[in-house]
Amino acid sequence: MKIAFIGLGDIGEPMATHLARDPFELVVWNRTSSKAEDFARNHKAKVAATPAEAVRDAAVVITCLPSSVEVEAVLHGDNGILDAMRKGSVLIDCTSGDPPTSRSIAAELGGRGVEFIDAPVSGGTTAAKAGTLTVMWGGEATVFERVRSVIEAFGKKIVHAGPVGSGDALKAVNNALLAVHIISTAEGLAILAKAGVDPKVALEVINASSGRSNSSENLIPQRVLTRAFPRTFRLALLEKDIAIAAVMAEDLHASTPVISLTAERFHEAREKLGEGADHVEAVKMVEEENGVELK
Ligand code: NDP
Repeated sequence: MKIAFIGLGDIGEPMATHLARDPFELVVWNRTSSKAEDFARNHKAKVAATPAEAVRDAAVVITCLPSSVEVEAVLHGDNGILDAMRKGSVLIDCTSGDPPTSRSIAAELGGRGVEFIDAPVSGGTTAAKAGTLTVMWGGEATVFERVRSVIEAFGKKIVHAGPVGSGDALKAVNNALLAVHIISTAEGLAILAKAGVDPKVALEVINASSGRSNSSENLIPQRVLTRAFPRTFRLALLEKDIAIAAVMAEDLHASTPVISLTAERFHEAREKLGEGADHVEAVKMVEEENGVELK
């Protein structure tokens, strides 16, 4: 099965490694071509010079780009994939995108005999390397069955969220919760640091109690207390996700003040820390505001 993979970023690259083997024939394209060339040197894959060239013979095309804006750009831009995708092929968009754009892309492709499913992933770069990502997809079951083997190559828990756009919606809300947990855990630890409680002692108790989360159990001990702050998932992308959740809430007239406030806080953190910062670095903003360092 011929597969085109577009977007070898922090998560796209390890995902693509699982498709660089039989029975797949993989072609990759990346905006910065050196990344695609490095990938092809180390894996069974060909490099395409343009997005259009990558998808021309592909039965399945995977996009893994920062947001739906870049997916639109790759569809409609110079040497874009819209005119090049073959009738009967399927576009799996693994970008954490926004539901209305995914629905409009699905409609546009549908008019040309190309199927679409939104299939954002969760689990971070560790699960991407291991091929054990959680995949939440939106679209038709008949389309999914045609690409099941492709998604199973990098996914472990694979869940149908509903019609096109539902995968994006679920992903945005999951990540809104992640953002809330990071900020609220940092705030709680800042209070305790000011009260003279060692953050390590605080986390020992919280992680054996009801206040625990992935942030308290893993992210903060491994990345904040060690001051390592590795870059695995850019803060700018998490800000994008919680903004999608906040816009969805507004459109649906849902009352979600905590999510709205956290979206504002991540917007602030993105402005302060820049496009290259990791998501967990949002903690640094809380530290600075409170004059404490969590270590
Ligand atoms: P990165 O920022 O690391 O990579 C983005 C990729 O998109 C790169 O290949 C980049 O190319 C390419 N790109 C950016 N802008 C354009 C453009 N205008 N045209 C063409 N290509 C472009 O992002 P991630 O890999 O981390 O994330 C990808 C998606 O997956 C996002 O939606 C993110 O929210 C989601 N995600 C990420 C996770 C993670 O742990 N990192 C976890 C779960 C989901 P170039 O190399 O040239 O910059």
